Amino acid sequence: MERGTINVQTENIFPIIKRYLYSDQEIFLRELVSNAMDATQKLKTLARLGKVQGDLGDLMIEVKLDEENKTLTISDKGLGMTKEEVHKYINQIAFSSAQEFLEKYKDADTVIGHFGLGFYSAFMVADKVEIHTQSYQEGATAVHWSCDGSTEYVITDGEARDRGTDIILHVGEDGKDYLNNAKIEELLKKYCRFLPVDIKFGTQEQNIPKGDDSEEVETFTVDNIINNTQPAWKRSPSELKDEDYISFYRELYPYAEPPLFWIHLNVDFPFNLTGILYFPKMDNSLEIRKDRIHLYCNQVFVTDHVEAIVPDFLTLLHGVIDSPDIPLNVSRSALQSDPEVKKINKHITKKVADKLNGMFKNDREGFEKKWSDISILIKYGILSDDKFYERAEKFCLLENTKGKFFTIQELQEATKALQTDKNGTLVQLYTNDEKAQHSYIEASTAKGYEVLKLNTLIDAHFINHLESKLQQVQFKRVDANTADKLIEKEDALTSVLTEEQETKVKDLFTNTIDNKSVGVTLEAMSPEDKPIMITKPEFLRRMKDMAALSGQNMGYMQGMSDMYNVTVNSNHPIISKVLEEGDEAKQKDLTKQLYDLALLQQNMLSGEDLTNFINRSVNLIG
Ligand code: ADP
Ligand code: MG
Repeated sequence: MERGTINVQTENIFPIIKRYLYSDQEIFLRELVSNAMDATQKLKTLARLGKVQGDLGDLMIEVKLDEENKTLTISDKGLGMTKEEVHKYINQIAFSSAQEFLEKYKDADTVIGHFGLGFYSAFMVADKVEIHTQSYQEGATAVHWSCDGSTEYVITDGEARDRGTDIILHVGEDGKDYLNNAKIEELLKKYCRFLPVDIKFGTQEQNIPKGDDSEEVETFTVDNIINNTQPAWKRSPSELKDEDYISFYRELYPYAEPPLFWIHLNVDFPFNLTGILYFPKMDNSLEIRKDRIHLYCNQVFVTDHVEAIVPDFLTLLHGVIDSPDIPLNVSRSALQSDPEVKKINKHITKKVADKLNGMFKNDREGFEKKWSDISILIKYGILSDDKFYERAEKFCLLENTKGKFFTIQELQEATKALQTDKNGTLVQLYTNDEKAQHSYIEASTAKGYEVLKLNTLIDAHFINHLESKLQQVQFKRVDANTADKLIEKEDALTSVLTEEQETKVKDLFTNTIDNKSVGVTLEAMSPEDKPIMITKPEFLRRMKDMAALSGQNMGYMQGMSDMYNVTVNSNHPIISKVLEEGDEAKQKDLTKQLYDLALLQQNMLSGEDLTNFINRSVNLIG
């Protein structure tokens, strides 16, 4: 028997380990199972190199919970340790790395993942830890190590045993939550479900029919294996079918709808990264979703908070990223400025853009069908990443009200002839509510204009962005002006009214409307156009949309948004009719009626005004 003192400055490190990030206590199990897996993988490597002879046998890792004796055991059949190795790796290295880790991160408040605490994280839940180990090396004897949470350990020769290591945790008061089968199984499923070595936790009953058509079943007791050792992202894309990708998706997110498509990532230079990114259905909303990308490190689950690792707009994707090259012991802000992470970021962005571009080029029709589900991600990417914009410009689509899709370039070509105004600005028209803006859309399409459907949440930002990127392009909602004035041309029509008559019409409407902030203008339009229209200036409206989107409560904007213009078509026959009306009361009624019709068209007539309108209509008909 040999006694020793773990060489540390701190009088007792274990209380510190226990206090350290209490909320992350559960990672002890991940650390111990990963050590068992490392030991198993190392043994396989040695066998491949011819340094271990003979059959390795079954290499299953087993986790056993003994609630009565309050122990949790992690057993592997890996390479084991000699006495010297226990000294070196447990007493010296493991301990000093645990100490170093604590010193380094005691002030960091956001540490993602805690690789590095390693073996000693066992003391977060255990009062005493034992190691029984037998090295694969010839002539090595079994070793027993134990430590009760003070700085003293005991090493003795162990009982003869098979190759491998058992780590026994004597769970104390701090870890009593873990003396529970369901809890351990949950943690194993969370952190270890895709580890490359079988992990057994207890047994399971399995019913197997006795014969082909027999109703009788035979019950077998089988090992309860926690993990899938061959997760799809670790396999070669060439051996995977669509069904495999979809069933792996279901394994990750059992309750989600099937994905639209996916990208299999496989990089080994200049960094190591594998994974599968899935495009989920997004139906145009940026709602906070609960399904996220999972980050793994060599098949061990680390976190599903990948905000710092993938670009913001790609956090909308689902799936798995696995990389040993992401520094996990640093704070989120340090992670964002880490050069390695930046490279990974760039690579993923490029892969996503390439995939989308490939789909667009190879199957445009299919791409258009998916557009409504993927547009939000693409627009978000365009807004947040210039490099992505450069790539996405080629496949970002705009849809018109008739369901036809244009790329940005195609749209410019298609609208150049009719929609260039007298200053050479190309005016693009859009609607964000086809029903409400129906008559405005009709008026514009009748002139041969394209009206785009831009009705998602981020479209206000998106069109602002396009205006800043494209030369001389301006977006206007169809109701920003009358169809004639949306795109101002030289060749305006002339009014059939005299100046005096126009003043009279203007006064009539101004007095009827009785709202100081509403301006009335007369415009010479075609007699076929509407007699009177309400328009909302593009600039103010969009400012308000953007403010609302960014969650700003701009009080003064509220008032502005109610601003609108009333445009009277001086060439419409009904306007002449109103002018000629001799009965002053009737003239007022007609004016009011026309104004209300215009309000109705914008869905702005309600309450008492609507009731009055209906009563007046009945009177006019009668
Ligand atoms: P790390 O895994 O990062 O090296 P740990 O503190 O988790 O740090 O483990 C320290 C060392 O102890 C390991 O590198 C390994 O040499 C040894 N070790 C731990 N667990 C086992 C095990 N189950 N079998 C063999 N060696 C082990
Ligand atoms: Mg470890």
